[in-house]
Amino acid sequence: METIPERLAAIRLEMDRIAHRSSRRAQDIELLCVSKTQDASRIQQALVAGQRLFGENRVQEAQDKWPALQQTYPDAKLHLIGPLQSNKARQAVELFDVIETVDRPKIAQALAHEIQRAGKAVDMFIEINIGSEPQKAGILPQNADLFIKQCREDYGLSVKGLMCIPPQGQQAAPYFAFLAQIAKRNEVTGLSMGMSADYPIAIQLGATLIRLGTAIFGERAKIE
Ligand SMILES: *Cc1c(COP(=O)(O)O)cnc(C)c1O
Repeated sequence: METIPERLAAIRLEMDRIAHRSSRRAQDIELLCVSKTQDASRIQQALVAGQRLFGENRVQEAQDKWPALQQTYPDAKLHLIGPLQSNKARQAVELFDVIETVDRPKIAQALAHEIQRAGKAVDMFIEINIGSEPQKAGILPQNADLFIKQCREDYGLSVKGLMCIPPQGQQAAPYFAFLAQIAKRNEVTGLSMGMSADYPIAIQLGATLIRLGTAIFGERAKIE
């Protein structure tokens, strides 16, 4: 079985290969290591291998694990990739460098307030419910333009990108292309799309950030 550093090295090579094949620059695509459910010793193996960008989906779990790791690796950066409640906005702003799941005015407002209060720069990605699935988080595609404008103009947030999780069990490509289209017409440059199963096509379609968990750590225990 491959080790975490070996998997990371293989993924980085693959990213370079796909970027080249897609006529893109490798340095325009970042690897977010999704460390949710992983314990500190496994995360440390990725850190030792040089990985610095990590994603967690729960504020509480990230608070439990990351302050200690950041003592040793102060240049590690954290993205929140899971749902955020407005009563956790303060903690989220304190801990995370990027919040990828901004998807409604209430949370945008809470984040704007906490960012101002903390005087800390935190970048925002807007999560789009790209398949318009009733159970899923994210702003609906037809409301995206207005919401992005609102985040920028009404709340003064730094909208650095869009994020999506395409519907399960379907070809992801049309959804990635759709996300890229929404980003383009709103002059948003970041595209967080592509997970372990579909990152090659995401890179081909313009991803600037791919979010990989399973490909780095192996299958997660089922409780998430
Ligand atoms: C868990 C998770 C990932 C990583 O998924 P893998 O299939 O393990 O690569 C990516 N993005 C989000 C939002 C997640 O919750």
